[in-house]
Parts: sequence; structure tokens; C-alpha cells
Amino acid sequence: MCSVYRPPQEEPNASVEDLGFLRALAAGHARLSREQGLELLSRTNLHTLGRWADARCRALHGDALRTYIIDRNINYTNVCNAKCTFCAFRRDSDDSDAYTLDYSKIIDKVAELEAIGGTQILMQGGMNPDLPLDWYLGLLRLLKERHPKIHVHAFSPPEFVEFVHFFNPPGATFEDKVRWVMLRLRDAGMDSLPGGGGEIFAGPVRRKIGLGKCDAESWLTVMYVAHTLGMFTSATMMFGHIEGYADRVHHMWLVREWQDRALRDTGRGAGHYKAFISWPFQRENTPLGRVKDWGADPAETGREFPGDTVARAFNWGEHEDVDYRTLGPQAAEFGRRVRMAGATEYLRTQALSRLFLDNIYSIGASWVTMGPHVGQLGLYYGANDMGSVMMEENVVSSAGTTYCLDEAVLCRLIRDAGFTPAQRNNTYDVLRIHDGAQSPDRQVTDWSRHRARKLHTQAPRQAPVGVAISAKK
Ligand code: SF4
Repeated sequence: MCSVYRPPQEEPNASVEDLGFLRALAAGHARLSREQGLELLSRTNLHTLGRWADARCRALHGDALRTYIIDRNINYTNVCNAKCTFCAFRRDSDDSDAYTLDYSKIIDKVAELEAIGGTQILMQGGMNPDLPLDWYLGLLRLLKERHPKIHVHAFSPPEFVEFVHFFNPPGATFEDKVRWVMLRLRDAGMDSLPGGGGEIFAGPVRRKIGLGKCDAESWLTVMYVAHTLGMFTSATMMFGHIEGYADRVHHMWLVREWQDRALRDTGRGAGHYKAFISWPFQRENTPLGRVKDWGADPAETGREFPGDTVARAFNWGEHEDVDYRTLGPQAAEFGRRVRMAGATEYLRTQALSRLFLDNIYSIGASWVTMGPHVGQLGLYYGANDMGSVMMEENVVSSAGTTYCLDEAVLCRLIRDAGFTPAQRNNTYDVLRIHDGAQSPDRQVTDWSRHRARKLHTQAPRQAPVGVAISAKK
């Protein structure tokens, strides 16, 4: 019988500088309020925040192992009926470079993955109205027939929301309709859902940047249905654009609330969010990337960022439909200025996610967007997992980020940070601990070559085991 789930309690009157409170947070005995989270994110110095996130991470994951997975990102179509302003990947169906992969191409990609010891495919695509339900069912059945050991982590919540629109399934409620589609995809071979399309949940931001993409309630409902069906999923956040700092905390708060609900309703051993991964917006080739940087005009120095003004009026979702045009001149530039996030902003946000999301097991470092060395540093800012060694990536690279690592380099980064690298599977079970002479990184004799290349170019490199691999989160 499942024990009753009891999350840690908030201590809203505690100061975030109180060592006793911080120790209780690190031990998992106290919970941050939204206001305390915002205070930590916006005012606590970076390394203090990192130290406490690291303490929390070590309390959960110990001091020895840090993990990674070998999977392949397969983007089965780039045709999409949404027009997210941060996206450089989507195409209209009549664009010359629009594509939908045929089954044989997808099967070939999975065979290449399996040949190098991969365990999972992360399969997502645009929201393509031309693909019927039978196309997905046929693909999943073929994948399971040809590659039964490969975990199929596929179809993010925005895709599911569009499946409901495209396939018109039976059901009295949105939740019923999602469940109807999800059960059929699961029976055909889908194992779990990735957390793509989370972006920022706050309505004012989401409506500006995610044109045609589902709202937060729908996103979270799809995941809740997956959890009730026993699946482990992940949640994501893309920040560092038009949002206020409070919007990041609000996003984490919604994930935490719905995770509480899943754990209460289904029990700890059943479906829930297993991981949270956040990364900064990548601007190249995107409409949003052409928006001016905040502060480029000296007159803006000393004024509040419009996203923060709007986030305050949004008030943690109390005023979901806040009209920013009524908030005065300060908010007039909302959506017309971006506040890009660099390495310290990334580490700060990731560290907060470790402390705030007390009910989520894994925090992943996003080396694909930030570069390997910032990803490595992330292991000291709350992350226990270096994400994926992947053979293919199409979405982030469309937006100008082309970091590329193979398994040996990923292991080396983990070992250089003071941990033993370990390969994991989708459910975070450890498959191989690399503590012996046969470890992938220990087959490389001359690391100076890799260092000279700064570990992140796409130039051909020595591939001691398997093949050279390009990657993203
Ligand atoms: S981010 Fe996804 S949903 Fe949005 S336009 Fe790009 S492919 Fe479509």
C-alpha cells in the first residue's frame, strides 16, 4: 500500500538568509514560498545560491555519481501550424525545405542509435495537420517491432493538444479526449512524454511568444493524464527573453503544484515528473531574436524591465488576463525588449529550480545551449544529470547553437568535475558506472586536442568508442 504523500511545508516568514531555514531546505524539510523563491533568484549572490543548491543535490543524489543518457533526438516533421516567435525550426507545408521523415528513415536512425549503446529516442515534431492518427500508430508499432528495447520518449504536450484538434477523439472533457489518444499511442509503443513546449507558463508571456501553442492549463493537464496512466515525464522551462523574474518562479510553482497533485493522486511509485530542465532562449534565425536587447538604449538603464512590471501585475496568475497596455509607459515595451540570459543567469535559475522543486528528483544541466563547461559547472549548481549524448539535434541548432560532444567527452566533463560518470536510462536507473579502465574517457590518451578545440566545435574529432555525436538537451 502507498504511504500518504506529504510535501514539506512552506515557512513564509523565514528569511532566505536564515541559515537554519536554508539547512532545512537543503535537507528537504522546508519548502520555499514564491516570494522567497523570487528573493533567492533576484537578490541572493550567485555562489551562495549555488552552494545551497549543491547541498540539496548531494542530499538527494550523494557525492559519487553524476549521470547522462545516450539517446537520439528525432524530429519527425518540421511542418507546424503554430508560429512561436522563438522558433527557427518550423516550416509551412509548402516551404521548399519542409519535411516529414518516412518510416524507413526513422527506423534507420534508431538502428544507428542502438549500435552505439543508445537506449532511448526523444521524438518530437512540429504540429502537422496532414498526419493522421494511423501514421503515428503505424510508426510506433514498427519501432517496437524492430527495436523493442528502445524507450520511446515521444510527443510533447503541445503535440497532444493538437492531436485532440486534428483527430477529434470521443470524450466529454479535454482530459478524456487526451486520455483516449494517449492510450492508443501507448498501446502502439509510446513509453513516456518529454516536457517540450513548456517555455514560460505565465499567460501574458505565453500569448506573446507562443503563437498557436497551447496554454499552461492544457500543457499541465496533458502531463497529468500521462501521470495517471503511470508514465514518468519531464518538465522544461525556456527563459531569458521577455519574461519577468517572477514568471520563472511562477512556472516552477505550477510544476511543483501539479507534481504534488500527481504524487497525492497516484502514489510515489506511479507516474509523475521525474526531471526538470531549463535553458536560456537561443536567438539566431528567430523572429524574437530580432527584438532589441533591454538596456541597449542608455535611457533604459535604471528603469524596470517591462517583463517584471507585467509579471507583478499578473500577480502569480491572480490576474491571468492582465492587459499590459493599461499598466502605464513602463509596460509599453513589453514584448519589444528581450533580456537575454548568460551563464550566470542560467546557473542562478537552475540553482533555484533545485531548491524550489523539492518534489522533483532530477535537475538536468543544459550544456547544449550553454556550452560544455557551463554545463559542467551546472553540476555544482544543483544539477545531477548532464542530459544526453545525442546523435542528432535539429531544433536548437536551427537557432544557432551547435555544441557537439561524444560520450568520452561527456564522461570526462563529469569526472573532471569530481564525480564518477554513469550511464542511465529514462527512469534514472544506472546502467553502467564508469569507474574502470574501460571507461569511454579513459580510452582517450591526449585530451589536449579536445581542449584546444574548446570541446564544442563540430570539427571531426578522435572518437575512441562508438561514433562522434552531436547533441542537445
Ligand atoms: S516551437 Fe514547436 S510548436 Fe512552436 S513553432 Fe516551433 S515547432 Fe511549432
